[in-house]
Formats: sequence, C-alpha cells, structure tokens
Amino acid sequence: MKYSLRVKLSFSYALVALISVVLIMAITNLFLDKYFREYVRHNQEQKNNDVISSISHQYQDNGKWNMEMIETIGVRALENGLIIKVKDKDGNAIWDATVHNNGMCQRIIEHMAQNVSSRYPHMKGTYTEIPYAINSGFAKVGEIQIGSYGPYYLSDNDLAFINTLNKLLIGIGIFTMLFSLVLGSIIARRLSSPISRVIRSAQSIAKGYFSDRVLERSNTKEICQLTSTINNLAGTLEKQEVLRKRIGADVAHELRTPLATLQSHMEAMIDGIWKPDAERLKSCHEEIIRINKMVGDLEKLARYESESLVLNKTSFDISELIYRIVLNFEPEFKNKDIKLAFNGESEEVFADKDKISQVVINLVSNALKYTPEGGVVNISVKGAEDITEISVKDNGPGIPEEDLPFIFERFYRADKSRNRLTGGSGIGLTIVKAITEAHKGRIEVQSRVDYGTEFILSLPKETNQDE
Ligand code: ADP
Repeated sequence: MKYSLRVKLSFSYALVALISVVLIMAITNLFLDKYFREYVRHNQEQKNNDVISSISHQYQDNGKWNMEMIETIGVRALENGLIIKVKDKDGNAIWDATVHNNGMCQRIIEHMAQNVSSRYPHMKGTYTEIPYAINSGFAKVGEIQIGSYGPYYLSDNDLAFINTLNKLLIGIGIFTMLFSLVLGSIIARRLSSPISRVIRSAQSIAKGYFSDRVLERSNTKEICQLTSTINNLAGTLEKQEVLRKRIGADVAHELRTPLATLQSHMEAMIDGIWKPDAERLKSCHEEIIRINKMVGDLEKLARYESESLVLNKTSFDISELIYRIVLNFEPEFKNKDIKLAFNGESEEVFADKDKISQVVINLVSNALKYTPEGGVVNISVKGAEDITEISVKDNGPGIPEEDLPFIFERFYRADKSRNRLTGGSGIGLTIVKAITEAHKGRIEVQSRVDYGTEFILSLPKETNQDE
C-alpha cells in the first residue's frame, strides 16, 4: 500500500503531537500523584491536629468537659470526614461520633473509600482509628481517637481538583493533536503540491514531449534541485532525440548518394550506354570505397562508444608518438603546401597508445583537410602538474560559432552544403570525444571563422599507473 507524501506528513505530525501529549500527561500525572499524596497527607495531619487542639481546649480547670462544644467540634469533624471518639482519663467515652450518628459515619467511610478507589483503583485502603492523648499541662486528661480512611483519603475537593486537571490536560492534548493535524496538512500540502506539479511535468516529458520544461518555482532547495535535474534530463533527451532523428536521416542520406551514383553507373553500363572502361569502373570503385569507409567508421564509432570500451593502458612518451605521426603526415602536408610544426618535450602518459594515436591522427587529418594551401598547422605537447595538454592548431577557415556545440556529434559537418570535396563523414571528432572520455580526459575547441581552429586534448595524470 502506497501513501501520498501529504498523508504521511500529516500523520507524522499528528503522531508526534500524540506522543508528546501522552508523555506530558504521563509525566505530569506521575509528579502530580507524588506531590499530591504528600499534600493530602499533610492536610490530613493538619486537620487532626486542629481537632485535637480544639478538643483539648474544652477541658476545664474544674476537671469537667464543655460537652456542648465537644459535640459541635465532633459534628464539624464528621462533616470533614473525621470520625472522632473522645474519652476521659479513665477511658470512659465522653462523645462518640458513631453513637451520635452511626449511619452518617458509615456513609462517610464508604464515600472516602469510593473517592480513593476512583483515583487509585489498586490501592488497598482501610478504615483506621488512631488514638491521641489530651493533655492539660503535663497531665494526660483524656484521649481522642480519630478514625479516617488510610493510608490517606481524598476529599471531594481534592478529587475534583485532580479530575479537572486531567480533563484540562486531555483537552489540551486533543486540541494540540487537531491543531498539528491541520497545521501538518497545510505544511504537507505546501510541500507536496509543487512535487505533484513537478511529477506531472516529468510525466509529460516521459511521454516524449521533450521540449516541455518544469516551470515550478520553489524556495525549497531539494525541489529546486529536482526541477533543474528534470529540466537537464529533458534537455539531454531533447538533444538525443534530435540527434537520433538526424542520425537516421544522415545515414540514409550518406549512403543514398554513393549508392544512387553506383546504381546509375552500373545501369548505364548494363544497358550499353556506357562502356565499362577502366575510368568508369574506377569511379564505381571509389564510391564503394567511400561506402566501405563510412561503414568502417560507423563500426569503429560503435565500438568506441560502447560501454565496454576496454583501454589497454601503458606508459609511453606522448611527444615521441606524436612526432612519429607528424613524420607520417609530412608528405601530405608538403603536397598541400602547408607548414607543419611540432613542439613538445618528453611527456610520459599512461593511456591506450593505439586509441590516443587515433585521436591525434583524426585531429591532424582534420587540420590537413580544412587548412587551405599555404596554411600553417602547429602541434604542441605541454605537461602541467596534473594534466597533459596536446594542442592541434591551424589557421584554416575556422568553425562558425553556431556549429561549435555540435561538431563532436555523429555525422555533423559544419559545412552544410555537404560537398564531398573534404571527403569527411562527420565521425572523426565523435571518435575523438569517445576515446577522450574513456580516458576521463577533456577535448575542447577554440575557433574563429577566417582565423583558424585549435583543438586541445587534456589527459589527466591521476589516472596513471596506480589505477
Ligand atoms: P569530418 O569527417 O567531416 O571531418 P569530423 O567529425 O572530423 O568529421 O569533423 C566534424 C566537422 O567539424 C567537420 O565537418 C568540419 O566542419 C569541422 N572541423 C573539424 N576540424 C576542423 C578544422 N580543423 N577546421 C575547420 N573545421 C573543422
């Protein structure tokens, strides 16, 4: 069973309030009981002492008792829950509450027992009579027995006080719970509503509306992070979608042109319109080579881009490697009358030698391809503390700013006319990027139209031998 965030939050608030109220009530009752019992006991003692003192004063100097007053005191004590018995020094009863009104005494005892058991159901109380001496000067002149419910009893006032307090606590508890439920629900709604709106936007993005964005504004940090993450994700998906569509169209387009050329040439030769001479066959052969190269590039790219790109890393001097590549390229650069310069000191790297050569070859062949005759290409290697930088810089036509973000994508050519003069398939830089990323490195490009282009490859040093 799944519950909404709002329900969960509201109930957690109510639960916290309930636990707090129950704890407060339990602790209050515990302390209240302890101090209240002491207070009741103390009160009882006080009442006893008052009665003893009042009775003592009724002993007159002539050895007689003021019977009228004793009765008044005895009746008042009875009304206060004390059943008293007064005896003279010989033990003869002077006044006895049970004789005065036995029925009332019984009712009082029962009432006291009821009060006590209503508050402390498990307490075993009994009716007890405690004798106190009545003294006149230093001589004992009589005795008073005070009977009450023990060890202590609660008067109606005591019980009313404690019950009111408990009702008050329960009232506060119910109010706090309701209040926290309402407050919790408001806070939960404020938290969950933006999340629900984000979810709705995310669902629409998931349905394929990649251009949709979450517009939720919130001052909750996590919600802001969530919206920006979803928007980034939508952006990536949108880009991927555009790319996917373009790849499909591009592959078809790239293959269609040479295939159509081949087809028409072949048909012309089959129909006898063209003689299958060496030149025509050579042109067909070139188209086949082109298609083959493209399929090869695609295969290579698929391999480099696959997650299982395994690097066979070794330690080697990258300057030495690049120098050898430069030597191999030299004749082609010379043919095109482009000055090729290499500058780099010995720099040890830990990388996949073959794949790094592929990267350098792709960058250098691009420089050769796009730099016009009479141009200059500079290649350099620079070692910093934690990276090795390889730069391939030319003074060719440059890449328009609007094309720069896309040049590393498959089949992307800044040259929109797609003329085949350059012979490129738009895969070279994609391969460069895939290999660089597999090495946890970075490839950057700086370019200005009519001034030239510089590709900078940075390889991290921390991925070295200790990997
Ligand atoms: P291609 O096979 O077309 O060269 P790449 O992936 O190697 O494919 O390059 C993508 C695009 O980037 C090229 O079509 C070209 O427009 C642009 N480009 C790459 N290198 C350079 C460069 N050195 N100078 C100018 N443009 C370049």
